[in-house]
Amino acid sequence: MNAQTKIIKSPFQKPDAHGALAMPVYYSAAFEFPSAKAMSDAFCGRSPSHSYSRISNPTVAFLEDRVKTVTGAISVTALTSGMAAISYSLLAVSAAGLNIVASKHLFGNSVSLMRDTLGGLGVEVRFVDFRDINEVAAAIDDKTCAVFFEIITNPQLFVTDIRAVARLAHDASVPVIADTTIIPFTEFSSRELGVDIEVVSSTKYVSGGGTGLGGLLIDNGIFDWSKSHTPALKSLASKVSGRLALTARVKTELLTNVGAIMTPQVAYMETLGLEALSLRYRQQSQSAFFLAQHCQSLPGISRVNYAALDGNPYKELVESQFHSLPGAVFTIDVASPEAAFSFIDHLSVIHRATNLFDNRSLAIHPASTIFGRFTPAQREAMGVLDTTIRLSIGLEDPQDLLADIAQALNA
Ligand SMILES: *Cc1c(COP(=O)(O)O)cnc(C)c1O
Repeated sequence: MNAQTKIIKSPFQKPDAHGALAMPVYYSAAFEFPSAKAMSDAFCGRSPSHSYSRISNPTVAFLEDRVKTVTGAISVTALTSGMAAISYSLLAVSAAGLNIVASKHLFGNSVSLMRDTLGGLGVEVRFVDFRDINEVAAAIDDKTCAVFFEIITNPQLFVTDIRAVARLAHDASVPVIADTTIIPFTEFSSRELGVDIEVVSSTKYVSGGGTGLGGLLIDNGIFDWSKSHTPALKSLASKVSGRLALTARVKTELLTNVGAIMTPQVAYMETLGLEALSLRYRQQSQSAFFLAQHCQSLPGISRVNYAALDGNPYKELVESQFHSLPGAVFTIDVASPEAAFSFIDHLSVIHRATNLFDNRSLAIHPASTIFGRFTPAQREAMGVLDTTIRLSIGLEDPQDLLADIAQALNA
């Protein structure tokens, strides 16, 4: 069966008391057992039964299983936010004395998680420019526990050459962790590109409605953790097998000790989102492409950045890696910061809001908001210009969106 059919068809586990066709939301902290033996088997991992919802829950497991079906991963862990998924992935591989080789161009909280939170615990982070594979190579050594990057950076929209980074990292026995939030896992296989751990803010495309926060940690099961530089994973690899060590750590150590499993309510909403994810993505990315093309000839716009446009240096890389359009977000540059504010103030169909890949179109001025607390010099180093506006395209008719952009520019 095709992935889309599998998503729609995978049934909720029977028997359900009422034969429910849609997945019920199991809001129960604890689960009851028929015997002391059954209870012991569940708690000690000898049976797959649910025992307590901090560790697993039927509604959350249903979402995880569907994502597993689409991606071919060996395990999926659904968490309370994208940041929780990123934290889990890095907590699972790092230890005091080890280092992470991370991209200089990352979501702001990923930067501060590594620099401040993990840094305070003795983990070193080496920020390098992933556009230059030699910089990445030079930063990796025998204390490197992971490389970490976003497949397409935001708001610069640099596209990472994933195969090249993975080859380099794997040659040095280093696992690859990629934040793939910008293109849904229904559209491309991170596994085929050599990504070991995929982390996703499911708050974005998977939710669609922009309702609840969620994150997914997807373990592709291709890395042999007995070769990693992480002592805890090497040790687990000798007990559970090399490819299962990270999943074992996440499911038995982190979920239990850290908490942060996704709530059943969000798992329910994201399961609904997942059913139409691919259809929404194709519509939204087609609309983004259409608008980016038309914006190139609108007066008042000096530059349009979208990696599918002719002349964009990443066009071929996008086609060869993702076999799809590069997401539903693009940026435009106008004459001045004042012109950017005026443009945003005059929008009437597109909303003034952060978030990405909502069903509604959203506009934001990154320099004065997401990056507003950085100095101009820091913004410049990160490639964030004060003339840039980021547009995330939703499900409105693209002609209505184009008209809105044109009238806001004229005003
Ligand atoms: C939004 C986002 C995050 C953080 O996700 P939350 O669900 O808000 O915690 C991480 N990475 C990227 C690329 C994002 O866009």
